[in-house]
Amino acid sequence: MSDSPANLPELRTFDEPVPLVRLGQGDYTRDIYPADVGAAEPRCTKAVLTYSALNTFRNCPRKYKHRYVDHLQPREKPENLSFGSVIHGGLERWYRLSGDANRLWKVLDFIDAQFPLRGSDAVQKDRWHRARAMLVGYAARYPAENFEIVEIEKVFHGEIRNPDTGRPSQTFVMSGKADGIVRLDGELYLLEHKTAGSIDANYLDKLWTDTQIALYSYYLRQVGYPIVGVLYNVLLKTRLKQREGESQEEYEARRAELAAKNKSGKSTAQRQLPETDEEFQARLAEWYAKPEVFHRERIYLSEDRLAMLQEEVWEITQQYLDARRRGKWLLNTSNCFAYDRPCEYLPYCQSNFNPNVRDNLFEIAPPHEELAVGAASDAETTF
Ligand code: SF4
Repeated sequence: MSDSPANLPELRTFDEPVPLVRLGQGDYTRDIYPADVGAAEPRCTKAVLTYSALNTFRNCPRKYKHRYVDHLQPREKPENLSFGSVIHGGLERWYRLSGDANRLWKVLDFIDAQFPLRGSDAVQKDRWHRARAMLVGYAARYPAENFEIVEIEKVFHGEIRNPDTGRPSQTFVMSGKADGIVRLDGELYLLEHKTAGSIDANYLDKLWTDTQIALYSYYLRQVGYPIVGVLYNVLLKTRLKQREGESQEEYEARRAELAAKNKSGKSTAQRQLPETDEEFQARLAEWYAKPEVFHRERIYLSEDRLAMLQEEVWEITQQYLDARRRGKWLLNTSNCFAYDRPCEYLPYCQSNFNPNVRDNLFEIAPPHEELAVGAASDAETTF
C-alpha cells in the first residue's frame, strides 16, 4: 500500500496498546563518564561536554550546577521541548527509512506511540494532532529531496584544545549529535531541523548567530566531514486548536441573544458541535499545505567564526574549572527570564535551595542521554 498523505491509515484516537518508543530526552548534558553512554562508546576518563552544557554554564553557572552537577531535571518537561523532540524523532525515522514505501506509516506509528494517553489527556491529544499533521504535511512537501543523506543523527566526539599551545584539555572532550549530514551540489552540509513559532526575517537573521551549529561543524570537520555550511530545515508550528463546540447552555444563551436581535424574536442558529478528529486533521492538512509553513535556509560557515569559537570554548572550560575548584556557582539573575519565560529552576533558586522544593519539583535524571539514544549509536571515536 502506498504511504502517500492521501492514503493514510485511520486516526487512532483512543488509548491503544501501542508500544511506547523511547525518545531522547532533548538536548541536555551532564558531566559524564563515557562508560555511561553506551556500548559503542569508547572508554576514557575525561568528562563529556556538549554545546548545551557549555551554553548553560555561560548563561548561568548555577543553572549548570543544578543540571549537570546535581543532575536535577524538572518533573514537567516544557511543551516546546517535548514537541520538538517528537518531531525530531519523526524526521529521524523519515530519513532513515528513505526508500521504504511505508515510511510515512511508520513515522505516524512512532507519533502515535509518543502519545499513548491521547484518548483521555487533552494535552497529549493536542500535541498528537499537531505532530501528525506537521509530518504528513512535510511528507507531502518533500516526497523527494535535492540532497543526498550522508549521515542521520551523527554522534561525534573531539578534543577541546588550548588555542595557544594546541594541547588537549585534560578534563573534557566535546561531544554532540548532529541531526544529519547531507551532500548538496557536491558539498557537505549539516542538516539542522527546527520547529518554529514563526518564520520571518527576524527568525532567519538569528540563524546566523547559531553557535551550536558552528561548533558542530568544526568538530565534524575534525572527524572527516568537510562541512561547508548548514541547511536549516524549518517547520512552522500551527496555532490551530480543535474546536470544542458549545454546551447546551451556551447554545441556548447564544440563540436567545440572536433571537432578541431579530424582529421576529426567533433564531435559526444551530448548536456548534465539537470538531471531530477527522475534521480537525483536515483543517490542519489545509494549513500545512500552505507554501510558507516549511522553509529551507542554506548558510555558509565563516572560517573566522570557527577559529573564534575555539577560543570561546577553551575560555569557558577554564572558567568552569575555576568554579568547580572554588565551589562557587554564581547566580546570573539576568538570565532568569530569558526568552520571555521563567527559568525552570526559578522556584528552587527563589526558595534559597530548599530541599523540599527540590524534591517536589525535580527528579534526578542523568543528562547527556541524547548521545546514547536508539539508533544514533554510531559514535565516532576521535580520542
Ligand atoms: S533561576 Fe536564575 S539564577 Fe537560578 S538557575 Fe535559573 S537562571 Fe540561574
